[in-house]
Amino acid sequence: MDMLTIGAFAKACRLSPKALRLYDELDLLRPARVDPDTGYRYYAAAQLEQARLVAWLRRLGMPLAEIRQVGRLYDRDSTAAAREIRAYWARVEAETAVRRDLAAFLVDHLTTDSREPGKDTTMLELRYSAHSDTGRVRPANQDTAYAGTRLLAVADGFGPAGAPASSAAVEALRFLDTDETPAGGVLNLLEDAVRGAAQAVQEVAGGADDGTTLTALLWTGSRLALVHIGDSRAYLLRDGELFLITHDHTVVQSMIDEGRLTAEEAVSHPQRAFLLKALTGGGATVVPDLRLHDAHPGDRYLLCSDGLSSVVPEDRILDLLTSPIGPDETVRALVGAANKAGGPDNVSCVVADVVERAAA
Ligand code: MN
Repeated sequence: MDMLTIGAFAKACRLSPKALRLYDELDLLRPARVDPDTGYRYYAAAQLEQARLVAWLRRLGMPLAEIRQVGRLYDRDSTAAAREIRAYWARVEAETAVRRDLAAFLVDHLTTDSREPGKDTTMLELRYSAHSDTGRVRPANQDTAYAGTRLLAVADGFGPAGAPASSAAVEALRFLDTDETPAGGVLNLLEDAVRGAAQAVQEVAGGADDGTTLTALLWTGSRLALVHIGDSRAYLLRDGELFLITHDHTVVQSMIDEGRLTAEEAVSHPQRAFLLKALTGGGATVVPDLRLHDAHPGDRYLLCSDGLSSVVPEDRILDLLTSPIGPDETVRALVGAANKAGGPDNVSCVVADVVERAAA
């Protein structure tokens, strides 16, 4: 075996001898041999690749404990090590996305709300419609859909108490439809309302196997605040383009995010219905996704349960949403498309258009 002194090895892998001694102590990279008399460390030339990997992972910002894990995988199977790095990076990006949204909200809140109170008086309002249908296969409808002047919501109940769970969740948000909403505190208000919904679901559902998703939009007069738990979805149609603005809280979506599964494989995955987050009778605390969207005249929002999104392709949804028809006809056309595709699940749709308010 080719042996290098710590100095020569350090030079070859661009780590300092000091870093190498630390990595030895932390069990990240053990020398091939330690002289029992002098205590000198010797490294095998074959360890250079692993040492370079450690150095790169440090530059990536990966915590030492995870580097140790990747190093162990790399010894046996470099593909597994690659997968671990991809999963780590997916987590970093997800955390960054949450922080980015919060930063954008704070910037917006501090520049718009306090300095230009006049902006919230922009004369915009919503035209809306909600429709929910049992579909063609299920014996009952466990979805709940709601649309009012300020509140839009879809909840998809599951388990024996799914129907009361979804209706309790939406009912718990109903006060938001009539109460005056301060634009600055809207996200906190929604967060509290969701806590109330979680409590209400817990009261009507039996256990952790009963529960509901909840995706809702709250109108402030110039913006829409989004709250989201589960795999119901919100889409925004703006300037002819359709944007999915929620992220499914499902096992398969997190596998796609981590690069363990392709979107094509996910369609037929046996665990595609497994939720990572939901409001359940078990009462586990869930942190909802919360976000604020500026409303533009001409925007069209769609909330739907997976009874639509899992059977009607996105380009078909786009077609129906861009048809020159009002929210009432549009929700019926969307539900009709899901039923035409077999209607395997309950299907709920809420469509809301942002329009300029007619002069009084
Ligand atoms: Mn469903």
